[in-house]
Amino acid sequence: MSAQVLSDADIKLNTADYIALEDKYGAHNYHPLGVVIARGQGQWVWDVEGKKYMDFLSAYSAVNQGHCHPKIIQALVEQAQTLTLTSRAFYNSVLGAYEKYVTEYFGYDKVLPMNTGVEGGETALKLARKWAYLKKGVPENKAKIIFAEGNFHGRTLAIISASTDPDCRSGFGPFMPGYEIIPYNNIAALEKALQDPHVAAFMVEPIQGEAGVMVPDAGYLTRVAELCKAHNVLLICDEVQTGLARTGKLLAADHENVRADIVILGKALSGGVLPVSAVLADDEIMLCIKPGEHGSTFGGNPLACRVAMAALEVIKEEKLAENSERLGRLFRAEMEKIAARVDLVTKVRGKGLLNAIVIKPTASGKTAWDVCVALKENGLLAKPTHGDIIRFAPPLMITEEDVHWALERIEQVLVTIE
Ligand code: PLP
Repeated sequence: MSAQVLSDADIKLNTADYIALEDKYGAHNYHPLGVVIARGQGQWVWDVEGKKYMDFLSAYSAVNQGHCHPKIIQALVEQAQTLTLTSRAFYNSVLGAYEKYVTEYFGYDKVLPMNTGVEGGETALKLARKWAYLKKGVPENKAKIIFAEGNFHGRTLAIISASTDPDCRSGFGPFMPGYEIIPYNNIAALEKALQDPHVAAFMVEPIQGEAGVMVPDAGYLTRVAELCKAHNVLLICDEVQTGLARTGKLLAADHENVRADIVILGKALSGGVLPVSAVLADDEIMLCIKPGEHGSTFGGNPLACRVAMAALEVIKEEKLAENSERLGRLFRAEMEKIAARVDLVTKVRGKGLLNAIVIKPTASGKTAWDVCVALKENGLLAKPTHGDIIRFAPPLMITEEDVHWALERIEQVLVTIE
């Protein structure tokens, strides 16, 4: 007897059913908002009951180009029908073209392709350590990496060893040695930490996204780059969230004309279609890693390479950095006006279309979570972070009209939430 295959229409699950399914069979390592998304196009998504929402999170800035961008999906489909994976045991006919494209696009000698953002971070750390031993002359096993408080670089053990967030760390020790954590946006602390001759690198987000869109003082990154150079220490910029036009420039470091020694990209490198990450560096650093010393079965696969080229082309063709810069200014200016009218919002901050508001609890105890639930009811999806912050990061192809539409919804909620 053949097994009955049920279509979605036959099954007719509703929102509560989908949530119950995940709750019963999935690990409880997330706490999602109660919406089950079934379809996406551009800045819009639809839930399983057909209700339409504007996406103001963009999968944590992975969907900068908009959901299911036709050009990126076409690249995906065409390549998927041709060749998906060879591993790096053999050459493939797309990787070289991608490597040329991405290195010329960002102006670095070499790229090392990986998959997730955190793998990009791990790769950068390994590169920095190798470089320290081979080029800087740091004694074996003495290399030190400096990180900033409040960082978020992902979830692996080496990466959470640098975290200062108890949720990320508690119960996961022992941690990786060879790290020092200094306050973010603090030049004096960096200067002091750099006195140690064993320092290989300073790894930093140009804007701390997960921390709640913490924008450092103007000139911070410039001074960081100068100090790293003066101390022969590599500057690693984690642009996994801030890169690829999100903050109004191709890279957030471009706002200060800073060229990091190592750049980590991920998320929107595939337009949210596949996990695709990349580490960029010049030969002096990148060639410190030799054959067999690092890699990944899926890193540099032809499907990812083709998709990433399409995703990068879209960013240029559709002038997403310019749109992000212009609409980000508009969003913050209008949001400031709303903040002045409602006393719930204590701060508006951000760059380009990476923005956040800080919410103080209402008299009746309503929090940023309740605001996000009400926003969802009002057709706009956003997610709170750290209890009192709401990040607003829509796809970068939104229009001015969309920004006004979203602001209207946000104001309605902030006015009525009490
Ligand atoms: N680095 C930064 C700055 C991030 O914001 C994130 C994810 O939010 C990561 C790294 C980790 O990326 P992934 O979840 O793809 O491993």
